[in-house]
Amino acid sequence: MNLVALAGGVGGARLADGLARCLPPGSLSVIVNTGDDFTRYGLAISPDLDTVMYNLAGLAHPINGWGLVDDSQQMIEMMRRYGDEAWFGLGDRDLATHLLRTQALHSGKLLSEVTAQLTEALGIKSKILPMSDNRVATMVETVDRGLLEFQEYFVRYRWQPVVKAICYDGAELAMPAPGVIEALEQADGIIFCPSNPVLSVEPILQVQGIRDTILNRNVPCVAVSPLIGGKAVKGPAAKLMDELSLDASSRGIATYYGTLIDGLMIDTSDSDLASAIPQKTLATNILMPTVEERVRLAHELLDWVGKL
Ligand code: GDP
Ligand code: CA
Repeated sequence: MNLVALAGGVGGARLADGLARCLPPGSLSVIVNTGDDFTRYGLAISPDLDTVMYNLAGLAHPINGWGLVDDSQQMIEMMRRYGDEAWFGLGDRDLATHLLRTQALHSGKLLSEVTAQLTEALGIKSKILPMSDNRVATMVETVDRGLLEFQEYFVRYRWQPVVKAICYDGAELAMPAPGVIEALEQADGIIFCPSNPVLSVEPILQVQGIRDTILNRNVPCVAVSPLIGGKAVKGPAAKLMDELSLDASSRGIATYYGTLIDGLMIDTSDSDLASAIPQKTLATNILMPTVEERVRLAHELLDWVGKL
């Protein structure tokens, strides 16, 4: 069974990790958001690609949701000694990833090529595909601070500014990275990870051909809700949906994806919403901080997808 997962960072990486552990090696492709990518100290940073890669390699920091386990922050400490604000955390070992990626991009390699190289070196058997090799920049229009680059909104201002609108600069011209459309066309099922629908999944859907390819596929397409009891497990999903006048609940997730998905996994505590969701639903415990819970959820998901 070939499966494709669409993923952002934390929520996406958690489920992708569970799926990778349940499926035969090589049968999972993860299409990852690159709308958060940016340049810091001249380095090409791809936060969501790295979060997925570190999780699938078993190297992710267990609490932060970004970065490597057992990493240090000496470079950042030195930056602060120089008077640099250093609002974006970069681990010392983590720097190796950014240095190699930056060097590869400077020498003319594509983001998808260097991603394949790094994931292979870490022994990852799943395919990790950036949504596009072209630059897409998620921009956040805020009430309090005007137009912000994504990482300024998310990290520097800790997603506190009130959001008016989101745009995906460059998306209309962005082509899917090599392998993305092929993976979707060969998939026996497509999983929308419990990622932020607006900030993590929408940029992927905005890349040329991706949304239409999914809509045209006659295979089960299933999402796992990132919201439990109207709250995000982590990050701004609920706050942001609310500010954008979207229904910040699992029902709102179902509405947001509409006909893209056939089914939505919701939390048991949200079971009462099922009757208001037009797609099929499966209620279970969708919180998965530990590897055991990721594997349990992935098994339940795969069983369900098999029956749809
Ligand atoms: P980001 O790039 O790190 O913001 O990553 P994502 O968009 O992939 O993930 C953020 C979303 O993941 C948030 O909306 C969280 O609510 C959701 N999330 C994180 N952990 C879990 C979990 O264990 N279960 C579920 N269902 N959602 C989660
Ligand atoms: Ca992200």
